[in-house]
Amino acid sequence: MNVQVRLPDADATRAWGRALAEVLRAGDLVVLTGDLGAGKTTLTQGLGEGLGVRGQVASPTFVIAREHPPLPRPDGTRGPALVHVDAYRLGSLDEVEALDLDSALDEAVTVVEWGAGWVEGLTEARLELRLERPHGGVGDDVEDAAAGERVLTARTVGERWTGVALPGAPQDATDA
Ligand code: ADP
Ligand code: MG
Repeated sequence: MNVQVRLPDADATRAWGRALAEVLRAGDLVVLTGDLGAGKTTLTQGLGEGLGVRGQVASPTFVIAREHPPLPRPDGTRGPALVHVDAYRLGSLDEVEALDLDSALDEAVTVVEWGAGWVEGLTEARLELRLERPHGGVGDDVEDAAAGERVLTARTVGERWTGVALPGAPQDATDA
């Protein structure tokens, strides 16, 4: 299933991430693509809020992977943890091995920024999210570059996603 959603501002992106959390479960892998500043971390912050995990989702400075454990819900149950990977600084495939994502990929919701090209080998199923600025990239005005609409394209890979309705999906936006 492919879905395209217009996200007018950062709050909309965060809200979409929050809504996405409702259809995610332990073992899911979400791969985020898009330029620096496209909104990958912003979306992941919403996801963390939706899952109800501990700690602020942030752009890691030195850490490549960070685990956010689930907080107890009002009824005492807990959802999955969020493992947030930012592979921007990942140098080699040895470093990928060192991340030891196997247990995360079994038990947590794993979100990978800059994962395209290497995460595909880790699981059979994944949700690929691409964030783009439809009105071009970075102008000379930093404010302009950060502000404004994004277009999110979601693509699911694998049986896992059959029948799963992604947030913001118009009723007729379903194809292959
Ligand atoms: P990335 O992780 O892709 O590098 P970030 O999420 O860290 O990007 O940064 C995105 C920046 O753009 C933030 O400053 C955010 O407030 C801003 N922004 C403006 N409009 C949007 C939007 N529609 N969606 C997401 N971020 C937006
Ligand atoms: Mg980021």
